[in-house]
Amino acid sequence: MGNKASMQLQQEEITDIQTETGFSSNQIVRLYSRFTRLDKNNRGVLTREDFLRIPELAINPLGDRIVHSFFLESQCETVNFKQFMSVLARFRPTKSKEIKNKLNTREEKLKFAFRMYDLDCDQKISRDELLAVLHMMVGDNISEEQLNSIADRTIAEADEDGDRMISFEEFKKVMERVDVEQKMSIRFLN
Ligand code: CA
Ligand code: CA
Repeated sequence: MGNKASMQLQQEEITDIQTETGFSSNQIVRLYSRFTRLDKNNRGVLTREDFLRIPELAINPLGDRIVHSFFLESQCETVNFKQFMSVLARFRPTKSKEIKNKLNTREEKLKFAFRMYDLDCDQKISRDELLAVLHMMVGDNISEEQLNSIADRTIAEADEDGDRMISFEEFKKVMERVDVEQKMSIRFLN
């Protein structure tokens, strides 16, 4: 193992991933070549350091959170190609004519977005978590006072059961008016 041939993607793996994620086989092959380029020590899996070499993530203020979500998917210290693809599938644009794949439904996209905010994974977004993510997104461009008031207002608007936290159900209601399809779709292959 470890030679070039063993790193090739088998046709059945492609078909498998295609069924699960809805990517075309061309896209899978191209993303696989990107994956192997990131996989510096040729182990067939990516580590956190590998992810941090992706320039788009390195400059994204939420890069850490996005990287974190790949590891939530794998529940392990490394991410294999299949796990890599199922996270990317959440960002796959949904075309109106196609049958929606289960990974890029609105519900899955929202779950993914929710996990970005839920830093301690207790299934609730606290005021501190909201504030921390706001900090990552805006950096020092907005005063502490303004950020605090945005966090307070968001919690007050979203919180229905009065625990001062945002549950996934509450989060979904807030996002009802947001075009998630649009916001959570990334064109990878351009
Ligand atoms: Ca939390
Ligand atoms: Ca609540």
